[in-house]
Amino acid sequence: MKVAVFSTKAYDRQFLEAANSRNEHDLVFFEPRLNRDTAILAAGFPAVCVFVHDQADATTLEILASRGTRLLALRCAGFNNVDLKAAAELGITVVRVPAYSPYAVAEHAVGLILSLNRKIHRAYNRVREGNFSLDGLLGFDLHGCTVGIIGTGKIGQILAQIMKGFGCNLLAYDVYQNPELEALGAKYVELSELFPNSDIISLHCPLMPETHHLINDKAVEQMKSGVMLINTSRGALIDATAVTKGLKSGKIGSLGMDVYEQEADLFFEDLSSAIIQDDVFERLIMFPNVLVTGHQAFFTENAISKIAETTIANITDVEQSRTCVNEIRAEPTKVLVG
Ligand code: NAD
Repeated sequence: MKVAVFSTKAYDRQFLEAANSRNEHDLVFFEPRLNRDTAILAAGFPAVCVFVHDQADATTLEILASRGTRLLALRCAGFNNVDLKAAAELGITVVRVPAYSPYAVAEHAVGLILSLNRKIHRAYNRVREGNFSLDGLLGFDLHGCTVGIIGTGKIGQILAQIMKGFGCNLLAYDVYQNPELEALGAKYVELSELFPNSDIISLHCPLMPETHHLINDKAVEQMKSGVMLINTSRGALIDATAVTKGLKSGKIGSLGMDVYEQEADLFFEDLSSAIIQDDVFERLIMFPNVLVTGHQAFFTENAISKIAETTIANITDVEQSRTCVNEIRAEPTKVLVG
């Protein structure tokens, strides 16, 4: 099948070409994101392949459909950027990659925890400048501290296993209880109990109306003084203004985030010569106890290979009119990002 691949980075090309080594499909790579202005690039392509910041709204889908597109293949799990209802009405099949490597994301969360705790990001810079002072680098033993995990699905479960290995106590919150967590000794509690009793809080639930700004002023108020907050899930789980206030008052001791509510304007691009206009983001990254990575938690060889292989297999399934287990339809769902 002829596939227009949008938002292509060098690594997308490398891994998709490897997954397509038998040349099952004719992949044509485009750097721009898909939106209503760029959709014309896909004229004559029966399949279009997109990532998290591409916009497949109704207008964009109409342009695609009118020029022959019949398949939208997402190389990600979340589908908040796709108007599924419009796709169904236009006869466009939508497929995704529901899971690739929960280890990649959980391990990145652990990386943020260790760096923030032992101030490795600051030590790296100091040593390069010949400053070997330890002032300001004091950390704490993870052994014996309490980790509150919000969302105990695939990624939350792996994080729980790793933190158990450090000798941490585990508190958990989820709308469903995962027996694997209970087997590790985790205690399921309400958020009102998790917030004040956790030394570290890590978010692993999807973004939905119920979880939008889950971390707000009220939540920060309930947290332990000096808490470490980690978000590798979706940016809008956190109200950035509320956590900025929490960081200024010292209530939040440190913040690690791989995702940010307004990240679509920033992440995945080299803006090192630009003046960033987002003052909330700029304030956050100025704190010495804040560590931000640009949505890279998923970015391991294992995960990218799996994404590429599943994407190619999804396209083949649809081309050969086989049932694709990764097809998503406009069923009523409240999940905005997963
Ligand atoms: P999952 O579906 O396996 O687990 C999500 C868990 O959240 C489930 O157990 C679910 O019951 C729970 N949940 C649903 N509603 C909830 C609520 N209101 N409160 C608390 N918990 C709730 O998903 P996963 O594979 O573990 O992924 C978790 C999240 O990680 C995804 O939603 C996605 O946003 C994020 N993610 C980030 C990256 C990255 O690169 N940073 C990569 C992949 C996934």
